[in-house]
Amino acid sequence: MINETHSQSLSNPDSKHDEYEIDPPQKFQTFYVNTPIIGLTGGIGSGKTAVSNWFAAKGIDVVDADVVAHEIMGKGSPTLQMLVEALGDWVVDESGEMDRRAVREHVFADNKALLTLESITHPAIRQEIKNQLSKVKSAYAILSAPLLLESYEAGLVSLCDRVLVVDVSEETQLKRASSRDTQSVEKIKAIMANQLSRQARIEQADDVVCNNEDLVALYAQLEPLHEAYLAFKKLPKY
Ligand code: ATP
Repeated sequence: MINETHSQSLSNPDSKHDEYEIDPPQKFQTFYVNTPIIGLTGGIGSGKTAVSNWFAAKGIDVVDADVVAHEIMGKGSPTLQMLVEALGDWVVDESGEMDRRAVREHVFADNKALLTLESITHPAIRQEIKNQLSKVKSAYAILSAPLLLESYEAGLVSLCDRVLVVDVSEETQLKRASSRDTQSVEKIKAIMANQLSRQARIEQADDVVCNNEDLVALYAQLEPLHEAYLAFKKLPKY
């Protein structure tokens, strides 16, 4: 059972009733799979996809938190239904799909709504990630998540045995993200400002690859990491 304050934000913030149960609390959850799990993270446009594609091409299973976040909010899903109950019918469009742009703009301007969104989606994302990680068949797995280190609430870093950070200069990051995205430079800068600094991210990393050069230079750094991850001996569960 989640605590009362938290549970109220899941439904009607004024409600005194616990309508949703999430148990046990995330920080006391235990999760263990024999497969080593490598958390992959980096800022917007840093090259996470380029890195995870390389690992996938080596036959390594990749679980992508962004993909999972998309999946759990599919048409008719219980998580989407919870969000409708919490924020209103406008959350879905006429076809029943989540109106992602409307939700994004709403929570950008309203921090309380953002907390409500996160309190609904984070447990569901975490649960589905655990589900996918428990089915991994490769020697190790990559868990790619842009907010692996930022979002304590989602608790994804606690699922990982090691953290691999893709580091890139802010200048290169901005250049690559803006030439790929339709988003404005200002919007990308705002996203970067909301993410951890390079230094803070690196401080929490076990492994760091630098992606300031071309893809050949990036892949050359991944090869020895792949070998090390294949040899990684995970401690047994006590
Ligand atoms: P986001 O979190 O925003 O989805 P990301 O971290 O997954 O981004 P990528 O999509 O891998 O980043 O890379 C961003 C853009 O930069 C892409 O267009 C990608 O092709 C390009 N890119 C990545 N690494 C390099 C590189 N070393 N040289 C040139 N282009 C690169």
